[in-house]
Amino acid sequence: MRLSVVVPLLNEEGNLRELHARLTEVLGGLAEEHRLIFVDDGSTDGSVGVLREIAQGDGRVTVIRLSRNFGHEAASTAGLDFADGDAVVLMDADLQDPPEVIGEMVKKWREGFEIVYAHRRKREGETWFKRSTSWGFYRLLNLISDVSIPMDTGDFRLVDARVVGALRECRERDRFVRGLVAWTGFRAAAIEYDRPARKAGKTKYNPVKLLILSLDAAVGFSTKPLRLATAIGFLTMIFSLVETASIITQKLVWGIKIQGYALQTSGLFFLGGVQMLLLGILGEYLGRIYRQTQGRPLYVVAERIGEGK
Ligand code: UDP
Ligand code: MG
Repeated sequence: MRLSVVVPLLNEEGNLRELHARLTEVLGGLAEEHRLIFVDDGSTDGSVGVLREIAQGDGRVTVIRLSRNFGHEAASTAGLDFADGDAVVLMDADLQDPPEVIGEMVKKWREGFEIVYAHRRKREGETWFKRSTSWGFYRLLNLISDVSIPMDTGDFRLVDARVVGALRECRERDRFVRGLVAWTGFRAAAIEYDRPARKAGKTKYNPVKLLILSLDAAVGFSTKPLRLATAIGFLTMIFSLVETASIITQKLVWGIKIQGYALQTSGLFFLGGVQMLLLGILGEYLGRIYRQTQGRPLYVVAERIGEGK
């Protein structure tokens, strides 16, 4: 079989040599032919220099240097666009996705599964905050999403050439690759692994980036938030109608003097908040439509280093 490994990376100079060495070792015994595609997502450290050296010594390495930082999802997409072979493995550069697991993935692929994702049994070196938000994120996502997205998996996965073909046709701008892979609908299997801590460097995902990714996932795979907006609006309306009826009855029937500026003001603010929230939800969809209609490419390649096509 021919296998391509796609590695999107941003400022990972401390991890690249070990990653390359371990990948070469593992892949040597696995596939008749393999290619390594490193996508440099606008690194500002010495990553590109290290990659150049690696590519010089190994003809199976291709480096796609993007013109700036386009984000992890766009960089993964670039790699998938350039990859070829019977199957493609997508993995992080920080050695949190151990190359040694690829053997098991290939075994599952040979059994006929087009998608083999790596399910994290344990996660080391990650904060309690990150683990619990990630846990909640996957549950919430599956609650609202129209496709079922495997829980507790990262991007580390093997996909068959047919899946890659389908992914190439998905050109949405605000991407969530994990969701897209599930969306293609091919037969999937999972393998278990313990996720080690990252080897060198720091995580590139801060809480804000994670929040944006969650929004892309939620909005990209479901229009249920829009329904939720309608439902909230409807319920608020019913509530205020009942409230009005009760006030009128109190005043006209029982002759009670109605007081309650506090209630009125808080009600006003409450409704203002609800309206802003709903506008925000609408805006999320609108913003995506706007970016999509601009039709810009998902990434810009500045340079291609190394052999391969
Ligand atoms: N990455 C990237 N572009 C970005 C951010 C991250 O290519 O804008 C790469 C990063 O170098 C790594 C992978 O995406 O190979 C996952 O990032 P990271 O390890 O920081 O995320 P975490 O594992 O902490 O969720
Ligand atoms: Mg990582």
